[in-house]
Parts: sequence; structure tokens; C-alpha cells
Amino acid sequence: MAPGFLRADKLKAVFIDLDDTLLDETAHMRGAYGKSLDELHEQISPDQAAATYREYEYIVGDLLRRNAWDELEREQRWEVALQRAGVDPGDLPVKICDGYYRHYFEGVGFLPGAERLLDVASQFVNCLITNGEHGKQWGKIRKMDVDSRLDHVLVSEDLGVWKPDPRIFERALELTGAQPSESVMIGDSLHADIAGAGPVGIGTIWINQYGYSLDEAIHEPDEMVTTPGEAALLIEQAGP
Ligand SMILES: [Mg+2]
Repeated sequence: MAPGFLRADKLKAVFIDLDDTLLDETAHMRGAYGKSLDELHEQISPDQAAATYREYEYIVGDLLRRNAWDELEREQRWEVALQRAGVDPGDLPVKICDGYYRHYFEGVGFLPGAERLLDVASQFVNCLITNGEHGKQWGKIRKMDVDSRLDHVLVSEDLGVWKPDPRIFERALELTGAQPSESVMIGDSLHADIAGAGPVGIGTIWINQYGYSLDEAIHEPDEMVTTPGEAALLIEQAGP
């Protein structure tokens, strides 16, 4: 029996998100900020740093939930976080971000099952579709050799179009020569990946690593799994 995400007889194209789908972005981002804050211990105590980071994550979560990512730049997010944690920002936002960029690529790694997903995806025509800045995204893609394992790579900043904008998914369909009904998008973001690809007519698999609830879903995913390895199993059932 054909899997639930597939609307055609056969699966032709597999589209995959990068951050928190293939790569452990949340963990290595935390690591980079942690190292950056440690280096600033003369200006900000460990307790203040922990309180500030909690505020920072809250701000980021809120911006993502509201799809208002452009509202605050990175340094401004830290300025607000420091203020909310009761710390005088001064030059800390600039220094925190400097350290973050210096340490950013150190901890990049695959999520368990991600390489299995890459292997299975390579049996189909495929495309990586990732939101982010050119330098950061390509730095991770090259470090983890993801580009050599996939047919096409789309980085939002290169296109000037960000998920969930349908144009980035239409570009992936163009590159792979697939119809939406013969395609599937796998990603961790309900807002960017699922609510982006679903309305275009592409099948969707949501990787819900952190057990989020579906209540706020704009577009319900066809399938929900908790790891990239489970997504690989679903894709395999669609046969090459
Ligand atoms: Mg992601």
C-alpha cells in the first residue's frame, strides 16, 4: 500500500530540510553560545548567563511562532534577553555574537538516523531546501559533505525566498522535474517546511523531535515521526 504522504503511484523526488532535520542545529547552537558566554565570564556571571540564555530562547521561540523572524536582528535579540534577565547589555550583544560565530561550526553533527535518510533520499532525485544565511548554511553543508550526497541544494538567502514561501518549493520541483504529487518534503518546522510544502501539493513528513503539539499547525502534516531514521523508513516504503 502506498504511504499516506504520496498522492501519485510512485515517489519521484525527496526534499529535505537541513537544520534539526539532518543536523543537530539546536544542540550545536547552544554549544556555540555557551562557549561565547563562558569567555565573557568577567562581564556576565554563570547565573546571569543562564538566565539570559533562557530569555534568548524564549524570544527566538516567540519570533518563530509568530513568523516574525525579521523583527529583531541577532544582536537586538541578545540586547532584549540581557535586559529581561536584568543585565546591563553594554557591549555584550556584539561580543556574544562574535563568539557565537567563532564557535559556530565546531559542534556541527548529524542527528541519529540522518545519514540513513540521506542514503534513502539518494535513491530518488532530491533537493536540500534550507532557510538561512549563505555563509552559515553552506559552511555546514560543506563541513558535513551533504552537497556531495544530494542532487540539488537551495539556500534561501541565495534565492531571496524563504520557506514557507511556495516559490522555493516550486524551484525544487523545477530542478528535480517532479510533480508535487510525486514529491515529499521532510522537515522539523511545521511553519516553514510543512505549511510551506503542503499547500503546494507536496506530501509532507514532519520530524517532531521535541514532541510539539499540533494545535498551532497551519497545515497538518501527512505523516509525523520523531527521528530522521523513521522518515527514512517511510520513504523506503514508497520504493525507488
Ligand atoms: Mg529545520
